[in-house]
Amino acid sequence: MKFNFKGIRFSTWLYFLGFSISIMMLLGFLLVVFIKPYYRDDRIRTVDMISGTLESLLMKEDVTRNDIESAARTVIGNNVCAIIYNENGKDIYYPPDSLGQLCMLDKQITVGDLTYTIKDDPRKIIEMIKNENPFSVTLFSEYTGTEMLLYGKQIRTNLANYYLILNTPLEPIESYIDFIMNQYLYIAMIVILIALVVAFFLAKNISQPIVKMKDEANKLAQGNYDAHFETNSFSEINDLASTLDDATEKLSKVNDLRKDLVANVSHDIKTPLTMIKAYAEMIKDISGDDPVKRNEHLDVIIQESDYLDKLVSDMSELSKLQSGVIEINRDNFDLKECADSVILLLSQAIKEKNIDLVLEMDDCIVYADQIKISQVIYNFLSNALKYSDDYARITIRIIDSENNVRLEVSDTGNGIAPEVLPYIWDRYYKVDKNFNRSVNSTGLGLAIAKAILEAHKAHYGVESKLDEGSTFWFELSKDYEEDE
Ligand code: ATP
Ligand code: MG
Repeated sequence: MKFNFKGIRFSTWLYFLGFSISIMMLLGFLLVVFIKPYYRDDRIRTVDMISGTLESLLMKEDVTRNDIESAARTVIGNNVCAIIYNENGKDIYYPPDSLGQLCMLDKQITVGDLTYTIKDDPRKIIEMIKNENPFSVTLFSEYTGTEMLLYGKQIRTNLANYYLILNTPLEPIESYIDFIMNQYLYIAMIVILIALVVAFFLAKNISQPIVKMKDEANKLAQGNYDAHFETNSFSEINDLASTLDDATEKLSKVNDLRKDLVANVSHDIKTPLTMIKAYAEMIKDISGDDPVKRNEHLDVIIQESDYLDKLVSDMSELSKLQSGVIEINRDNFDLKECADSVILLLSQAIKEKNIDLVLEMDDCIVYADQIKISQVIYNFLSNALKYSDDYARITIRIIDSENNVRLEVSDTGNGIAPEVLPYIWDRYYKVDKNFNRSVNSTGLGLAIAKAILEAHKAHYGVESKLDEGSTFWFELSKDYEEDE
C-alpha cells in the first residue's frame, strides 16, 4: 500500500512530533538563557545566608565546638570560602572550603586603585569594609575565566568588631553547564521517543476508524447496502458512524422502493395504457362518426386517464412516506372537525348511494399531522362507501378516552375474509382482483394510511366479518407539544 503523506495518520503523527520537539527546544533555550542569571542570583542569596550564619556565630556568647563545625560545613557545602578577621587583621576563623584553588583570598586582586592579596595584607580590605559596609565587588578570575563575588561585612559585637570576608564564583563552571546540558539531552531524547510512540498510536487510533468508514462508504457507493459503519471510542466518530448507518438504511429503503415502484409501475400502468390505446384506435377506426359510441369510448379513455393520474399520485405519495422524505408536522387540532371536512368531501358519493351515515363523534383535540390524518379518514370512509351497497349504514365514531382518541369507521358492507385480512394493508393489495377498476381502486389507499399511522406511532387495525361489515380504526395520542 502506498504511504499517504497527506493522510490523517501521518499528519497527526507529524504534528505531535513537531509539538514535542518545539517544547523540548523551548525548554533547552530557556535552560541556556537562564542558567547563568539563575546561578548568579542563587550565589548572592547563598552569600547572604552564610554571612548571616557566621554573624550569629560571632554574636553567640558560649560558642561550642559543634557550632563552629556546623558553620564550617555550611561554608564548605555551599561552594564559598570565608575568613573572619579581628580589628588587628588577625584571622580568627578560617574554615576549610570547597573552592580550593578557586578561592581568591590568597590571590592577588585589584580593587579600585589597589592591588593586593587579602591574606597577606588584610588591613586593606578591612579599611575598605569600614568605608563601605557591607562591601561587595565583582572580580574576574583569570584562573577559571569566571566572575567571582567578593563580599565583606563588619560585625559589631559587645566585645569587639570583626570583619567577615566571603568569596564565591558568580558563574557556573563549564563542567557544571556540560553536566546539565547532557542531562537535558538525555531527557529530550527520551521525551521525543515517547512522543513518537504515543503519536503513532494516537494517529492510528484516529485514522483507523475513518479508513474503515471510507471502505464502507465505497461499498455503499457501489450500491452495496450491507455497509456497516463501526463505532469506536471517539464520540464524534460514533456520531458520524450512526449518521452514516442511518443514511445507509434510508438509502437502502429508497432503493427497495425504487425497485418495487419500477416493477409495479410497469405492471399497473400497462393495463390502463393498453385500454387507452385500444379505445383510441376504436374511435379512429370504428366509432369516429358515431357520436354516441364515440362518447362512450372517450369516457373510457377519460376514466382510464383518471385512474392513471390517481395511481401515479398515490404511488409517489406512498414512496415519499415510506422513504421518510415527507415529514410529519404535528399540531393540536380537533379530530371531529377534521372528520367533518372529510365527510363534506365525500358527501356527493354518500348521497348518491343513499348511505345512512351515523355520527357518534366527541369533540376532542389530538396532537398529529392534520392533513395526513384527513387522508387516513378519507381512505377509511371511501373504502366503506366503495365496499357497501346502496342504502347501507356507515358509522363514524370518535371515542375520547383518558390518554388517546379512537376513531372508527364501521360499515355493513361486504366484509373481508379472515385469511386475507392481514394483507389488505399491503401495497397494491385488492381482495377482488377483477373488481371494477374504473371505480379508481389502486390498492394503495390502506398502504398509505398504514405509512401515515406508523409515522405517527399510532395504533390502528381492522375488525371484519365476511358479509357483515368491517370496522377500521386508529388511536391518536392526546399529548400536547410540550410533552413531545
Ligand atoms: P384505493 O384506496 O387506492 O382507491 P383500494 O380501496 O382498493 O384502492 P385499499 O384502500 O388499500 O385499496 O384497500 C385494499 C383492499 O382492502 C381493497 O381492495 C378491498 O378489497 C379491501 N377493503 C378495504 N376496505 C374495505 C372495506 N371497508 N370493506 C371491504 N373491503 C375492504
Ligand atoms: Mg381505498
